[in-house]
Amino acid sequence: MTSPSIVWFRDDLRLADNPALRAAVDRGEPVVGLYVLDERSPGIRALGGAARWWLHHSLASLADRLRERGGVLVLRRGPAAEVVTAMAADAGAGAVFWNRRYGDGEREIDAGLKSRLREDGLEVRSFGANLLFEPWTVQTGQGTHFSVFTPFWRACLHLPAPRRPLPEPREITGPGRHPSSDDLADWALLPTSPDWAGGLREAWQPGEPAGRARLGAFLRDDLADYDTARDEPASGVTSALSPRLRWGEVSPHTVWHETLSTGADAGRFLSELGWREFAWHTLFHHPDLAAVNLRRRFDAFPWPRLHPAQLRAWQRGRTGVPLVDAGMNELWRTGVMHNRVRMVAASFLVKNLLIDWRRGEEWFWDTLVDADAASNPFNWQWVAGSGADAAPYFRIFNPETQATRFDPHGEYVSRWAPGYAHGDAPEPIVDLKATRSRALDAYEKVKNAD
Ligand SMILES: Cc1cc2nc3c(=O)[nH]c(=O)nc-3n(C[C@H](O)[C@H](O)[C@H](O)COP(=O)(O)OP(=O)(O)OC[C@H]3O[C@@H](n4cnc5c(N)ncnc54)[C@H](O)[C@@H]3O)c2cc1C
Repeated sequence: MTSPSIVWFRDDLRLADNPALRAAVDRGEPVVGLYVLDERSPGIRALGGAARWWLHHSLASLADRLRERGGVLVLRRGPAAEVVTAMAADAGAGAVFWNRRYGDGEREIDAGLKSRLREDGLEVRSFGANLLFEPWTVQTGQGTHFSVFTPFWRACLHLPAPRRPLPEPREITGPGRHPSSDDLADWALLPTSPDWAGGLREAWQPGEPAGRARLGAFLRDDLADYDTARDEPASGVTSALSPRLRWGEVSPHTVWHETLSTGADAGRFLSELGWREFAWHTLFHHPDLAAVNLRRRFDAFPWPRLHPAQLRAWQRGRTGVPLVDAGMNELWRTGVMHNRVRMVAASFLVKNLLIDWRRGEEWFWDTLVDADAASNPFNWQWVAGSGADAAPYFRIFNPETQATRFDPHGEYVSRWAPGYAHGDAPEPIVDLKATRSRALDAYEKVKNAD
């Protein structure tokens, strides 16, 4: 009799550097890969549309790769705690392994499952795989968590270095009997009516092999220019690894060690991975990050009544502000937006339009292929001024100055908002100067409140 090992895949859709998969293979029993689409457990945020598109293709790629090595990927849908327990019984499993998640609702599910399955006599182990530094291991001298990036990152760099990535298993022994699985197509993760994903298909090939190829190309071709050109949205020198890291197609340990092995001076790039770590550190200690101002005095912020037409104009890239519209169009077409432009577009929504950062966060959540439960709200709060180590409230990006500085030849704007060159651009929906001073007045009201 065999007692298969279940590997429960979550935000780690890869074979390389996957400690849960490695442990299952090393256990020497047949391995069953499992992915659970959980849209019902409390505390789990439903995926946005662009994320669902990515997930479909990344799962298809993972299933192929497992199959090529002799393994299987079983797809099931429902509340994770019930599904995993039923799956373990169904497969006659002797062990369940997974890589850790860090959201509150997710940790609750995982902890409950761990104790229940152990009571039933199964071996259950979880591993650190998706962050370089587990959030609870990074502490101030007083044993508290960090709320400022620079000392956080310094503390990380004093911890034991991130472990070396694990090689991917060459062969995987599947179970004798294939447990029943949903059909990926039945999950309807892809948009159909209408099919708005044409731009995503052009821009991306989800899955581990394409992610690894992009990492290699970035290190070879772009890393050398990263420090000087990373802020220029037309330069194309940034890594484009954010969806790969979001879905775990490439692990941060792999990015870290492959970057170091180039021998280049890559401190700046690695510190961007540090911002990702800091966002997760913040979410771990503030599970309500997407809903609640980290600085509670912002609860008193005098948001005017929502102006739905202005929100819609922003979402559709029709604000009449070229850099903002270009960014929102890039987002709609490709599921990502350059970081500098994300900051400018977010600042415009929150400060010039005085629309609550949560409305912007929700739109990004729905449209980004890298939408990440930590980085998205973290950065929105950073821009709004309500977050950890946030931009000071009086920093209101001027989108025109930003365009002159970072897109001096208008390449980015003409690529994503060509209407401005052809004279059929929308009229500005607000006056930048007047709305700037309105924002400063509003921010003045929360500056000293606590
Ligand atoms: C309003 C707003 C919302 C954002 N939402 C997300 C999100 O949902 N998911 C997401 O991954 N990033 C988010 N970011 C951060 C950043 O814009 C993207 O990570 C970056 O643009 C991805 O491009 P890249 O992979 O080429 O980055 P690179 O410059 O090559 O950076 C390498 C990696 O570092 C990480 N990183 C870089 N900057 C940040 C940052 N500011 N915060 C956290 N991690 C960072 C990413 O994982 C990125 O892939 C947001 C930024 C803003 C201003």
